[in-house]
Amino acid sequence: MKIKTKITLGVGLLFLLIIILSAVGAGFISALKADTDNILVANYNSLEYSRVMLNSLEAPTPENLKIFEDNLKKQSSNLTEIGEGDITDEITNHFNEFKQNNNDSNKINLLRKGIYKIMNLNMQAIQRKSIVAKATADKAVFWIAITGALCFLIAFTLLINLPSSIANPIKELTASIKNIAAKKYSERVHFESHSEYGELARSFNVMAEKLEEYNNSNLAHLMKEKKRIETLINNMHDPVIGLDENLKVIFANEEAIKITGISHKDFIGNHCKDLAQKNDLMRTLVQEILEAKNNIAGKNNPLKIYSDNKEGYFEKTILQISATPTGEQEKQIIGHVILLKNITEYKELDFAKTNFIATVSHEFKTPISSIKMSLQLLENEKIGKLNEEQVNLLDSIKEDANRLLKITGELLNITQVESGNIQLSIIPTDPKEIVLYAINATKTQAEQKQIKLEINCEESVPKVHADNEKTAWVLTNLISNAIRYSYDNATVKVNLYTKDNKVNIEVCDSGQGIAPQYKDKIFERYFRVPGTKKEGTGLGLSISKEFIEAQGGNIEVNSDFGKGSVFSITLNVA
Ligand code: ADP
Repeated sequence: MKIKTKITLGVGLLFLLIIILSAVGAGFISALKADTDNILVANYNSLEYSRVMLNSLEAPTPENLKIFEDNLKKQSSNLTEIGEGDITDEITNHFNEFKQNNNDSNKINLLRKGIYKIMNLNMQAIQRKSIVAKATADKAVFWIAITGALCFLIAFTLLINLPSSIANPIKELTASIKNIAAKKYSERVHFESHSEYGELARSFNVMAEKLEEYNNSNLAHLMKEKKRIETLINNMHDPVIGLDENLKVIFANEEAIKITGISHKDFIGNHCKDLAQKNDLMRTLVQEILEAKNNIAGKNNPLKIYSDNKEGYFEKTILQISATPTGEQEKQIIGHVILLKNITEYKELDFAKTNFIATVSHEFKTPISSIKMSLQLLENEKIGKLNEEQVNLLDSIKEDANRLLKITGELLNITQVESGNIQLSIIPTDPKEIVLYAINATKTQAEQKQIKLEINCEESVPKVHADNEKTAWVLTNLISNAIRYSYDNATVKVNLYTKDNKVNIEVCDSGQGIAPQYKDKIFERYFRVPGTKKEGTGLGLSISKEFIEAQGGNIEVNSDFGKGSVFSITLNVA
């Protein structure tokens, strides 16, 4: 039954019972009133008339007889009992006869007798009617009690059943909704099917079923996606290792397992710190993660890894994975992915290239040197005097030979850098000597452009830890650049001073300077600032950086774009 019908019926029934109870009560009260009225009007009045008539017969004066006559008339019009009319008529006749013969005491006795008869008749009627009234009262009590009890029973039943029949399903439904919210999608509710709750339960069950289906399909979908990604990662030719936010390994593909030599079982679920303690390669791979947990994103030098009976080169990239959890604003680190890119093939090609450059530049050195020797011989007047045109030709050959020598020198140096074979002989060296050597080596170049070379040197500069030859090469290169990139008639300053227990050598020019976006790039191999018209290889600064850093020093540039640049080398005091 519908809840609405239930409440309407319950309240309606109560309402009906109240009406019945009121009607029964009112009915019986009016019946009782009728009974008592009957006694009062019909019998009590007759008794009263009779009493007055008896009193007036005590002294039959004309006034009393008048009262007697009046009451007799009233009695004549109040005949309620059987036989009362005959007796009243009899009294009327006797009274008429008494009026004609006033002293007839016999008639008075007859009148009294008649009156007593009426009184007796009415007294009996009162007794009878009071029995009827009592019966009516008893009946009233009975029926009112019955109706009251019925009302009580129905009201009690409603009180017990109605609230729980409304509240219980709501309670059950609330509990089920809580279960659904807690992802227990198998939850169902079962209510009486005809009530509104039945409809609600059906809708709820449909919803729960759909949620369950959605959840299952989603789970299946997720599992499928997970499998797909796992397969994808496993099929990658590069090793990949995934760590969760607690630095525990969550996945490692077959390549990673192969190069680390750690079995899948020992890999997955273990903390990378524990793995690092047992495995050297793992230690190298997770070093940055363990040391600087919050700031990892970048590439390191290639790693040389020996696996599968051969040497391989891998470029390590650590990706820090961050995500914004649902409902939150801030991103959180949810893990790291270590990618090892197999660059063995490129490395091998690079080696071949470096070897080739080294061989070629080495092979070039001898013929260039002999060209230079021949040039020197030709310049010697003892061999023969040259005309002006021949001198000019010799000068240009000399210039080209010098340039070739510089290039082959740079190429040889870069092969040293690339193969990691920088041969250093670091000894305490006087930095002044290096400066003077470099100035000397670039003097002719400066003279060609009428550039003044100015040296500002502190009185006493301590010796430095440096490779004499390489540092001189670097400084020569810097001064040569300063001359090349300066305008004619300019001044190139070389400052030598000590600061913070380090020796600084600065080369300052007033050329066009370096745009801020290229400040770091100029130290990269083969990089030349776009638009540079002067000849060059783009190798000088990168070699300089490698040489200086290999000695524990530092090289940097400060440039006011358009006004000049300052290249400074910092070396450790010996
Ligand atoms: P390059 O052989 O091209 O001079 P470098 O490695 O010595 O190679 O220099 C790289 C680039 O840096 C140059 O091509 C040039 O554009 C810029 N550069 C180097 N020195 C200076 C300087 N003193 N003033 C302006 N630009 C410079």
